[in-house]
Amino acid sequence: MSKYTTEAEVEESYTVIHRTFKSGRTKSLKWRKWQLKQFWWMLEDNEEEMIKALHADLNRHEFESTFSEYAAVKRDILEHLEHLEEWAADEKPDAGFVMGTLSGARIKKEPLGVALIIGPWNFPLSLTMQPMIAAITAGCACMVKPSEMAEGAQEFLVKMVPKYLDRDAIRVVTGGPAETGRILERKFDQVFFTGSSKVARFITSAAAKHLTPTVLELGGQGPAIITESADIELAAQNIAWVKFLNAGQICLSVNHVFVHPSVHDQLVKRLEYWNEEMLKGGKEHMVKIINERNFDRLKGMMDKSAGKIVYGGQTNRSKLYFHPTVVTDVTMKDPLMSEELFGPICPIIKADFRQAYQAINKLPHPLAIYIFSKNKAQIDEVIANTNSGGVTINGVLMHAGVPTAPFGGVGESGYGYYHGKHGFMAFTHTRTIVSPPALLNKLMTFVHPPYSISNKSK
Ligand code: NAD
Repeated sequence: MSKYTTEAEVEESYTVIHRTFKSGRTKSLKWRKWQLKQFWWMLEDNEEEMIKALHADLNRHEFESTFSEYAAVKRDILEHLEHLEEWAADEKPDAGFVMGTLSGARIKKEPLGVALIIGPWNFPLSLTMQPMIAAITAGCACMVKPSEMAEGAQEFLVKMVPKYLDRDAIRVVTGGPAETGRILERKFDQVFFTGSSKVARFITSAAAKHLTPTVLELGGQGPAIITESADIELAAQNIAWVKFLNAGQICLSVNHVFVHPSVHDQLVKRLEYWNEEMLKGGKEHMVKIINERNFDRLKGMMDKSAGKIVYGGQTNRSKLYFHPTVVTDVTMKDPLMSEELFGPICPIIKADFRQAYQAINKLPHPLAIYIFSKNKAQIDEVIANTNSGGVTINGVLMHAGVPTAPFGGVGESGYGYYHGKHGFMAFTHTRTIVSPPALLNKLMTFVHPPYSISNKSK
């Protein structure tokens, strides 16, 4: 096949999956379970190929890809298989005797229809597959557009999805911004987008032309706040890890750190220690920066920074290698703070917890806030005075790992949720159905016109 799906092929896929959805096939619970089981086998049979593709795209160590993508998707499939029937079952609203019991009110869960899923490159398989799993569980047909920047993962999906999943209901198409723009000219019933806030604006304006609802899973400048009472060892180890993991190219990464001046020097020392520890396995296990454009962007921000590089700073453009880097004496006006870093640079800003949350509130709402502190009152004050997709206290990433909790952003970090039942609901229309008996209809005639005082005695 050519590198990107042609317009004629996109059109054919679009027609076929619409026809299948209209036939009602994807609505049956049997079809949904069958597809989820096939999804499981797609991973089980091809673990090695999947890990290899991720290594080719990102130079990611096998273990890192196994826990962050392979195992995460498998766990998700099991969760959806286990709960599918419970989530899909009708619900009875708690509406009292007349409007609830007597009216026979029920809430029916119906698939939204044909969904378009657009994936990012940073976890190119899991972040494309997890919305697919939610769409299948909800009974939707879907067109899937993986990121063109992770070619190995894209090829994996192009090859495996038709081999394992229902070709008439689930299609993978490929393309860059221009091709995706053309795909979006078509009407879908849901667009699930994971990517940057900048591109999200194109996605939503294209979807708006058809009044298509969207779920936006975006990123932002997620901070860590370290107060004077924090366990510095814990904070340094976690921050070094989240900047090492995928080379900091994570929507939930710590973008920058606010640290109380009294523990600043200790934190910087321990960050150096933990970075060295993480690199003991060999620099070759460090994930590469995805491409030259992003490498140059990161290097440019680092070079322009007025801060002091106290650890790291080494780079190799031909290998797209960026050593984990700690920069101190950073202010909110520094070039390093001009946009989401999405890389292994860790700017450190001296601030107490109040100055920290005041600074956070001058930027768009992030996807995550991390607070390292033993002071409950201060933790509560930070939460009460900020907004973010989620919060982890004395740790990183953990709030996103609660399988039954909603995962999503707020404001510039996105809207809508997924994970567990929330993913199922993202692709579901909740349809309220009532069937009032004749007696109830009769009772209701008292509100019918003509209006007069006699209505009261009708
Ligand atoms: P991106 O926005 O550049 O690309 C995402 C997808 O959009 C890709 O499939 C790409 O082909 C497509 N695209 C790019 N330009 C387009 C255009 N003009 N019109 C239509 N489609 C277009 O994002 P990325 O670089 O792949 O990922 C990095 C961003 O994603 C970061 O901001 C990160 O924080 C965010 N992210 C968020 C989550 C989350 O779950 N909230 C997860 C991963 C990444």
